Amino acid sequence: MQVNIKNLIDDTQCYDTVRELRWPEGRDCPFCDSRRVIRRGFDEKESARQRYECKKCGKRFDDLTGTIFSGHHQPLKVWILCLYFMGLNLSNEQIAKELELNRSDVHQMASQLREGVVKKNRK
Ligand SMILES: [Zn+2]
Repeated sequence: MQVNIKNLIDDTQCYDTVRELRWPEGRDCPFCDSRRVIRRGFDEKESARQRYECKKCGKRFDDLTGTIFSGHHQPLKVWILCLYFMGLNLSNEQIAKELELNRSDVHQMASQLREGVVKKNRK
């Protein structure tokens, strides 16, 4: 009997984790760094993905804007699990097996995760 960890966590937990990772000291705007950020409902496709509006620059963004997760083809869940396995010191090969990915994908994701979840050269 085999338990698939992907079935044990849900998107809500994943988005909570992203918010904790990127905003450990409270939300700020990824465009102007202002703290004057209000909630603006949730994404239409992903109901756990919070949207925001910055009251200073007026730009809208969501939990993934400006992170390594945005615009990536892997679902957020896979990224979070990859991070979890990295914390357990699993090898890329083991992680690839657990997440049913190929090793080069895991290698790429792991090196991005080590750099931090917020993109460095954001505009
Ligand atoms: Zn702003």
